[in-house]
Amino acid sequence: MRIRAAVLPATGADVVVTDVGLDEPHADEVLVRLRAAGVCHSDLNAVDGTAETRCPAVLGHEGAGVVERVGEGVRTVRPGDHVALSWMPSCGRCEECLRDLPHLCREAWTAMGHGGLMDGTPRLSLDGEPVYHYSFLSTFAEASVVPERCVVPIPNDAPFDVAALVGCAVSTGVGAVWRTAGVRPGDRVAVFGCGGVGLSALLGAQAVGAAPIVAVDVSESKLAFAKDLGATDTVAWRESAEEAAEAVRDATGGGVDYAFEATGRPEAMLAAFLSTRRRGAAVLIGISRPDAIIPLPAQSIPRTERRIMGSAYGSVRPERDFAAILRLHADGRLPLDRLISHRMTLEQAPEAMDLVRTGRAVRAVLDLVNGEAAAA
Ligand SMILES: [Zn+2]
Ligand SMILES: [Zn+2]
Repeated sequence: MRIRAAVLPATGADVVVTDVGLDEPHADEVLVRLRAAGVCHSDLNAVDGTAETRCPAVLGHEGAGVVERVGEGVRTVRPGDHVALSWMPSCGRCEECLRDLPHLCREAWTAMGHGGLMDGTPRLSLDGEPVYHYSFLSTFAEASVVPERCVVPIPNDAPFDVAALVGCAVSTGVGAVWRTAGVRPGDRVAVFGCGGVGLSALLGAQAVGAAPIVAVDVSESKLAFAKDLGATDTVAWRESAEEAAEAVRDATGGGVDYAFEATGRPEAMLAAFLSTRRRGAAVLIGISRPDAIIPLPAQSIPRTERRIMGSAYGSVRPERDFAAILRLHADGRLPLDRLISHRMTLEQAPEAMDLVRTGRAVRAVLDLVNGEAAAA
């Protein structure tokens, strides 16, 4: 079949919305008619080369839609099912999966690099040449063929736009709080970086009863929005990591139990560490440049038992956590729809990516209705 899709022709090039070919699903694959796709910072990392990506590729790794056809052997979904997409098709058999860390699955992380599906080959093409998948999903498109392990059934009344965000940004932020850190009621929390992931962490912390919750950012307007979403205090980024951390410690009676870092900037990672109290932890979510180093005050680590924790995909189990997150959203306890600042069409994908790049969008979502770009 032919579909409209946003293609990155080469690293550093501009994204082009064009017609591409999409093959039928092979065994253990699912054809999903996409209804919404979120634009994530990682899509921009693919464009600018921060994350090496095989091109040409259809970008997009946040999406939700309706199952249209299934390949041989698919048992978990059938046509008509509403699904959110996960970019982590954990295998269930590798050493990490067996250690109960499916979000760190070796097989899936290795397969992600080659731009194909699980067998290494793509289902996308342009003028007879292969076009590669981005993180198995390629959601900036009217439809996608994805591994069965990437589709997670969602309730029929779950909004597609919110479900799309749950596929990456929301799970990454909320999961870092619930699953990586295990924040408990009354824990003191700081969030560095108030984009889609950081604000998801803020909402996740609020949902489990953390207090206070301090938001830190360079942008006054983002801090005002964070406050509106429920941050108890805000700190404008200072000249140095030390000063920013001091302001957070002052606002929290001496430091936080958990400081979530969602910018990928080493100085913010250092500030997150320095803003923790004894036995506190900096939880690093943001993706830095591959050669970045964080200089830490070594003595304070044994003396104060302060820790650094990494968080990949919020340590979530999509089959369990997508549903849990969407249920709290439906109950009004996790107002994720408020993260959506822009709704646009597939044809506007390049513009939507610019909005995210310049920090003007908290979250831009592409509405993809019945295979045709909807009116904005
Ligand atoms: Zn993402
Ligand atoms: Zn595995």
